[in-house]
Amino acid sequence: SLYSHKEIFLRELISNASDAIDKARYESLTDQSLAEGGEEWKVQLVADKEAGTLTVRDNGIGMTRDEAVEALGTIAHSGTKEFMKLLESREVKDNPDLIGQFGVGFYSAFMVADKVTVVTRKAGADAKHAVAWASDADGTYTLEDTEKATKGTDVILTLKEDAKDFLEEYELRKIVKQYSDFIEYPVVMDVTRSVPDPEDKEKSVEETKEETLNSRKAIWLKDKSEITEEEYNEFYKHVSHDFTDPARTIHYRAEGTVEFQALLYLPQKRPFDIFYQDYKVGPTLYVRRVQIMDHCEAMLPSYLRFVKGVVESSDLPLNVSREMLQDNRIVEVIRKNLTKKVLDTLAAMKKDDLEAYGTFYEEFGRILKEGIHHDFERKDTIADLLLFESTKTEAGKKITLAEYVGRMPEDQKEIYYITGADRAAAESSPYLEVFKEKDIEVLIMTDDFDDIIISGLGAYKEKEFQSAIKGDLDLGDEKKEEKKKEYGDLLELMKEELKDLVGEVRISGRLKDSAVCLVAGEHDLDPKMAKMFEAMGQDVPKGQRVLEVNPDHDLIARMKGLFAADKESGQLKEYVGLLYDQALLLEGVMPRDPVAFAKTLSTLMAEGVDAD
Ligand code: ADP
Ligand code: MG
Repeated sequence: SLYSHKEIFLRELISNASDAIDKARYESLTDQSLAEGGEEWKVQLVADKEAGTLTVRDNGIGMTRDEAVEALGTIAHSGTKEFMKLLESREVKDNPDLIGQFGVGFYSAFMVADKVTVVTRKAGADAKHAVAWASDADGTYTLEDTEKATKGTDVILTLKEDAKDFLEEYELRKIVKQYSDFIEYPVVMDVTRSVPDPEDKEKSVEETKEETLNSRKAIWLKDKSEITEEEYNEFYKHVSHDFTDPARTIHYRAEGTVEFQALLYLPQKRPFDIFYQDYKVGPTLYVRRVQIMDHCEAMLPSYLRFVKGVVESSDLPLNVSREMLQDNRIVEVIRKNLTKKVLDTLAAMKKDDLEAYGTFYEEFGRILKEGIHHDFERKDTIADLLLFESTKTEAGKKITLAEYVGRMPEDQKEIYYITGADRAAAESSPYLEVFKEKDIEVLIMTDDFDDIIISGLGAYKEKEFQSAIKGDLDLGDEKKEEKKKEYGDLLELMKEELKDLVGEVRISGRLKDSAVCLVAGEHDLDPKMAKMFEAMGQDVPKGQRVLEVNPDHDLIARMKGLFAADKESGQLKEYVGLLYDQALLLEGVMPRDPVAFAKTLSTLMAEGVDAD
């Protein structure tokens, strides 16, 4: 998908040059010497037809030797390993668009160049301390010390035979206009024209002048009506380093006690590194048209970390630091406003185009959901944005909590949910037997931390959540009390027999086909979460599990018979142990002693097989 638009290499290189100037300009606010003579910040294109090279030059921050190795060296480059892994994966082979999610940035130069040379010098370093990095796309590179009179970076492309078009003025002009028009620094090029000779009007002479190819208007400061969708999309790619168009664009100006402009985007695809610890949160912050930081994490909560874009406020001082932003009143106002705007946009998207919202939710729902846990004030607003499958939806189709509550029968008091690895596992679970029988809808939750989220939420529209796999369920079985009495003695024996393993043995309100199951206490950790914490090496409070028994099951009835005949029966005790192991199996856990379990089972089967 990249190769069909080879010209985007120029967008990437100009974008990098602009990033480098942003950094130099910001740092020179506090360290004048970095401006080095203070010539005008700019990106320069130099097309040399004789040499067949196109140079993208900037007078930005530049790179030290180490930085060049780190940033451009093939293996060390952040994300490269992930990228190579991804390329080999099935997912990408079926879905080449995914490649776009990687910051292929600089490497896109190799689509049009046989050789790429980067000559760079860090701003503030001595002219002798420059470095030349070069590679001809064979997976290796060379690195040499060199001299460079001016700070910044030259990226020199030796163009491929079929890419020589990129030396033509009209072609470069067109590409810059299309992809980089909003870049705030001038993108300039020497342009040679024939002009009438001032000496002799009959003749003409060649005149070379530096021309600026982009309009340089900060797109977020413009009026909405002046901006085309393409312009919005290209700007998104510049700020997000993404290759895919955004799903939604949010552009507005806030007026009032705090004034600011915001241009925010909701991406289509989840970046591969969004779950990494060091993923950068927040929009780029501008103060009076100077970029102050590329990610201002104080401006957006981490559960909205998928949002990209720019915020500009002239109410903040130019020398604002990250520390200052932490407890800043103005930032707090902006953060509240942006958060509300993004959540409102998602709500509108859900209302107007549920399918698009569903697609978005597949990518980012898991992240958005974190907000229930972290943003107490807005947890109900976020709850309205959640989607879940249920036992009554088609596989893959999701409903909102409002829909669930809306179709709850009158006498249903609680919102039922089941947590599990996937839909199939949840559906075949013995914990749903009674729900199936009574035709009660149960939400299916498959994200690993869903149980924590739901506990945090507590209730939705005053209906409390009840896990199908935790606590005592009472779905209105009138005979339950009777059965409790009837089976009381047998349950006592089972309890005594299993006293080191379970806290309680009781008549089940959830089983119809299975004989037994294990449940967690109402306030215990969900078994799936417990496993996750254990895998992370954390101590998990064991909680007191409960063994539930189905009195309507033939086996339990027969055991009761056996108990009545002989309270001390060794066989009965053996059965109790087997039942416990079965309950483990139903949870996907190994029996305590698999070998012994299999042996006992075989013996029992042998007794049951009729030889006649
Ligand atoms: P990204 O821009 O998403 O970080 P790129 O592949 O485009 O990824 O660039 C990789 C890195 O190389 C940049 O993060 C930056 O550190 C460095 N780099 C690239 N071009 C320049 C430049 N013109 N000046 C300074 N550093 C640059
Ligand atoms: Mg880049």
